[in-house]
Amino acid sequence: MALCSVPDCGARAAARGLCAKHYMRWRRRGDPAVTGQRGRPANRPRYQPLALRLHELGLVEDYEQLIQQLAEHASRPNGSLNVSKLQRAAEERAAWLVAKLER
Ligand SMILES: [Zn+2]
Repeated sequence: MALCSVPDCGARAAARGLCAKHYMRWRRRGDPAVTGQRGRPANRPRYQPLALRLHELGLVEDYEQLIQQLAEHASRPNGSLNVSKLQRAAEERAAWLVAKLER
């Protein structure tokens, strides 16, 4: 019987080497270790690399400002983060910047 690959979990693996709880976290947050507490940008790791990449390419001067803008754009009225909206916004911003470069 395979066990969940998250350290110290010990539950039986249900999918992708993760137990049901950690698999759901992974599905929702992109990271089985993230519990997604309210009012916090729980999914930073998923859009941060993209923003950082834009910064490294010289497309974005202020990396923290971009992160802030994206997070504000994707925040729900209750303060939680709409992660898919955030991801979409980051990708749209990337596409927009690249299109601007090619002009
Ligand atoms: Zn687990």
